[in-house]
Amino acid sequence: CFDALHGALGDCSCNVDTIDYFNNVKIFPRIQSLVSKDYFRFYKVNLKKECPFWADDSRCAMKHCHIKTCSKDSVPGYVDEHENERPAEKYTKIDQTACSTDEDHDPDLGYLNMTISAASQYEIAKWNAHDSALENFCECDDKDVEAEYVDLSLNPERYTGYKGPSAHRIWRSIYQENCFRPKLNPYESFPYVLSSDLSNMCLEKRVFYRAISGLHSSINIHLCSNYLLSEKGVDFAAPPEGEWGPNLEEFQRRFDPSQTHNEGPNWLKNLYFVYLLEMRALSKAGPYLETEEYFTGNPTEDDETRAAISNMLSVIYSFPDHFNESAMFNGGSQAAKLKNEFREHFWNISRIMDCVGCDKCKLWGKLQTQGLGTALKILFSSQWDSLEADPEQGTLPVRHKANKRLQRTEIVALFNAFARLSNSIRQLENFRIMLSANKEPE
Ligand code: FAD
Repeated sequence: CFDALHGALGDCSCNVDTIDYFNNVKIFPRIQSLVSKDYFRFYKVNLKKECPFWADDSRCAMKHCHIKTCSKDSVPGYVDEHENERPAEKYTKIDQTACSTDEDHDPDLGYLNMTISAASQYEIAKWNAHDSALENFCECDDKDVEAEYVDLSLNPERYTGYKGPSAHRIWRSIYQENCFRPKLNPYESFPYVLSSDLSNMCLEKRVFYRAISGLHSSINIHLCSNYLLSEKGVDFAAPPEGEWGPNLEEFQRRFDPSQTHNEGPNWLKNLYFVYLLEMRALSKAGPYLETEEYFTGNPTEDDETRAAISNMLSVIYSFPDHFNESAMFNGGSQAAKLKNEFREHFWNISRIMDCVGCDKCKLWGKLQTQGLGTALKILFSSQWDSLEADPEQGTLPVRHKANKRLQRTEIVALFNAFARLSNSIRQLENFRIMLSANKEPE
């Protein structure tokens, strides 16, 4: 797949090799260090939202388990007298492991660590008080009563075993129902969209598809690069331990042209494409992002975060070939209609994330969708155009309510989503090295 992964990306003036160098050398170390800071480490999200499109898979499996096949004896480690003490969430996870037969997912690997230390809880309470004084202007999970903070560093995005009909229903509905598909794949099977059809689409629809496909590539690269290589130590009651690392075979299965109807290299190019798109959003919102407080209540940490943001943005500004969003949505009422559709389609995709049947996949799926949605908002809403035309607007301190353009969760999602894409591009380099080592004669 790497032989075809060179040269022009299409739909922009940039090429793959330029991004490889820029990302791996300049962006990757900076963004990884930035998202490890407290401000970016805790993400507020509601993972209990009802799936609006079909019965939630995880709950579905659980019900099936309870009503039909599951006896208490079959639950590993189940002790009857503790029934009332056992947290409901854990109980259902254990049930599912014992009873689910369709192997759609492995709830144990999808285990989500919701631990927040007492010190962090205290800090977060202070952040909430601070944030509630600010005006919210977008619909984010963080105002939901069921939203909770998750420590992202305790829940790395990696292989969870989520696959089969449940995962396919999510991807299929994203591509088939929401991606402005040029026409149905006549076989109604994989791949959902043929890249050869893209040339018949207008730029806007192509960009939409490529952004989603790039996100899909990134998720799959993460599960290949952080794969469960050996299961020793995995038990039902604790987060899985074992040996985690890159799985070249799995990567090739997913991206090699011969195993993907020649689509693999295009899917990888779409990763670079969505990376460019998010980087452009960061650049455009830069004057604003540089004035955010990044409040955690720890002045030293906050100063360091602001300095790290400025440093990273200055590197981003220096990138020579930014994505040019001004070529999109030009042409009167038709363009306005298209933009509206674009927004609605994306909004649907973000809601589909509530249907993902594995907690950890849902967490990262929601975060990355929100990050991409925030990037699209920055690129395609007029208030951000005026910021760029008059950067002075961005220099006003964001403490003033009127200048608060993004909520904390949006900022956290935007940077973390970009960090994921950056990491994926970096992981490609690892796979490239592994592959060439494999090819070398003995
Ligand atoms: P899938 O990735 O399910 O893809 C289905 C079909 O889509 C493929 O057969 C192919 O035709 C097409 N396709 C594949 N890649 C692309 C692309 N980049 N662009 C366009 N079309 C493509 N699993 C984990 O182990 N860890 C996770 O953290 C995780 N997070 C997930 C988050 C979400 C939101 C979803 C929906 C799934 C997640 N999964 C995760 C599952 C994972 O993405 C796959 O669905 C699963 O591994 C099964 O893979 P597959 O080979 O059947 O193909």
